[in-house]
Amino acid sequence: MLKPNIRYSQLKDSYLFNTIYRKTNEYLAANPDKKVLRMGVGDVSLPLCDAVIQALHNAVDDQAHPASFHGYMPEAGAPFLRAAIAGYYRSMGAKVSENEIFVSSGACDDLGDILELFDQDNTVMVIEPAYPEYVDTNILAGRNIVHLNANEENGFLPMPDNNTAADIIYICSPNNPTGAAYNKHQLQEWIDFANEIGAVILFDAAYEIFIEDASLPHSIFELDGANRCAIEICSLSKTAGFTGTRLGYTVVPHDLVRGGMNLNEMWSRNRETRTNGISYILQKGAAAVFTAEGQNQIRKNIRVYKENAAAFTKALDKVGVWYCGGTNSPYIWMKCPDGMSGWEFFDYLINEIQVVGIPGDGFGECGKGYFRFSAFGSPEDTKEAADRLCKLLEKE
Ligand code: PLP
Repeated sequence: MLKPNIRYSQLKDSYLFNTIYRKTNEYLAANPDKKVLRMGVGDVSLPLCDAVIQALHNAVDDQAHPASFHGYMPEAGAPFLRAAIAGYYRSMGAKVSENEIFVSSGACDDLGDILELFDQDNTVMVIEPAYPEYVDTNILAGRNIVHLNANEENGFLPMPDNNTAADIIYICSPNNPTGAAYNKHQLQEWIDFANEIGAVILFDAAYEIFIEDASLPHSIFELDGANRCAIEICSLSKTAGFTGTRLGYTVVPHDLVRGGMNLNEMWSRNRETRTNGISYILQKGAAAVFTAEGQNQIRKNIRVYKENAAAFTKALDKVGVWYCGGTNSPYIWMKCPDGMSGWEFFDYLINEIQVVGIPGDGFGECGKGYFRFSAFGSPEDTKEAADRLCKLLEKE
């Protein structure tokens, strides 16, 4: 008889964002006259930049003529896009070659698929609070998961020690949900540790573009020895507004070898089996992000989101509430007042000021008592939400 994957029953009831969505809609159904400001889910609000739109239009036209038409694209990505991304890495001071770059349809897809490189019998370490996909994909694969707690004492940036042991280590920096980011020195320690114990770091760089502090690395490959222990997963979703357009990239270095097997070659082989490539049109649009014009335009949008983040941090500074993030990250991670749990604070905010954020509980045990705001909303809504929050907390 067919056996389903019973590990689906070990996943939490409902995915975090679905719960928020449902609760918000329930509130709106009961209070149709209220204006709810959604400052939770991390979807972008600004449209694609002009350089990308133009490139997409041109690519659509290419598909209309036999001479410029493209059918299947190479599984690992079009050479023009791999070259453009390699140039971007060079500009960050990271040595990454074109054939170490694999174009994907987004970080989420690759975070799941990349696990096919590893045997089920590996221990995974997740620094929590964490983006829920790290845990869920490994539950489904049946791997042993250990949790390393990030907390206020370690600035939400825990470091490895003698008690830390794992085969696969997730590091997300700047972090979702906490907004905390490792500096070069700290990340180097993780790299040295991984090389010492033979672990592989899955480095999630989805928010690298928000880094403004020069002591923080944008890519793990800026640092020594990362080419022997790390895979980097990145995305244009938040950097260039591609959440609905879909494009990401993963770097698997040539020097990454475990158990005598070369992970770059394994990933090439995986791509040949698992994908028929990413649409020519989208890859053309993505390549425009890495032109001088594209970079200029996307960074203007990032500045808007950063101003949004500053509206929140100013409000929290004014009322003296503890938080981290918001500077090198689009996320602000605040401590809930009066010992409230994240879900209690969620209900309090939606009922009192109609502002929606995300309870820290949804990102793991040690997210309890914290709350995440996202800076991806419109400037008008964000300013209003920050004002409402400030007034509410001032009354406390
Ligand atoms: N990694 C992190 C840390 C994220 O927050 C997200 C999306 O919110 C992703 C990966 C997924 O990005 P994508 O839209 O490229 O699938």
